[in-house]
Amino acid sequence: MHAVDGVSLSLARGEMVALVGESGCGKTTTVQTISGMVTPSSGSIQLDGAEIVGLSERRLRPLRRRMQMIYQDPYESLDPRFRVSQTLVEPMLIHGIGGSRSDRARLAAEALERAGLAPAGAFLDRYPHELSGGQRQRVAIAAALVLGPDLLLADEPVSMLDVSVRAGVLALLDALRRDPGMGILMITHDLSTAAHFADRIAVMYLGRIVEQGPAQTVVRAPRHPYTRALLSVVPDRDPRKAGTPQILTGEAPDPANVPSGCRFRTRCPVAEAQCTTADPHLRFPSDATDPAHEVACHLA
Ligand code: SF4
Repeated sequence: MHAVDGVSLSLARGEMVALVGESGCGKTTTVQTISGMVTPSSGSIQLDGAEIVGLSERRLRPLRRRMQMIYQDPYESLDPRFRVSQTLVEPMLIHGIGGSRSDRARLAAEALERAGLAPAGAFLDRYPHELSGGQRQRVAIAAALVLGPDLLLADEPVSMLDVSVRAGVLALLDALRRDPGMGILMITHDLSTAAHFADRIAVMYLGRIVEQGPAQTVVRAPRHPYTRALLSVVPDRDPRKAGTPQILTGEAPDPANVPSGCRFRTRCPVAEAQCTTADPHLRFPSDATDPAHEVACHLA
């Protein structure tokens, strides 16, 4: 079974790329592979041009410091026995940074305030159960920031949070990618969030990227039927502009038994005969207005 197949992504410092798709499409496997938690059977992953695949644990560890992960569920990702201060100091101890005890305490307080929990003194001695969901996610972000990462891998960072605090956490991530200038790869199933915050969007279906390009191009001029279906169910703020939602029928196929030809053909409303035999690969549509817009569809 190929959980992820032929995915190719690039991410620059200061850029946010959103990986969008429904559950089970391979988004999480992709970021786990980038972070080294899953070993790819083939392919290449490079950080600042240096190959990561195949490195020993000893050589991978310093690179792990530069690639930090934010998990979906802040109720599970924080150790309930650790005060906030311990949660922030532990990664520094593991990676041998921060110098003295007082230096680490200072760095922890700075990271907490950069993550929006100020004054830090009001939070450092608390346990996770004394924090709200949004505050927990900010602690998780601060625990990543103390290591000074170049790349933040955010796996559905707001999907478990109340709607009222989502915007604040997303705005924090948006600010962080500009200052200090880190790349953020954000997984989300919410195309409207991706459109608002990301520079580029990559849409995944059944382990493959089926459309990618600048966020506004993908959202305003989607070319893949799957992207169009996802966008059709995004509610518009103006109810008068509400279109007809295009509800996809059936479940996504079993990744162990991928359909012949186009992977999306069993659910595609415009599939043609050629779609059962020829597997479309990402390419620039002939009439594309944006040269960075790629689509994997015979009809694009
Ligand atoms: Fe639909 Fe065919 Fe395009 Fe696949 S290649 S998305 S089945 S039209």
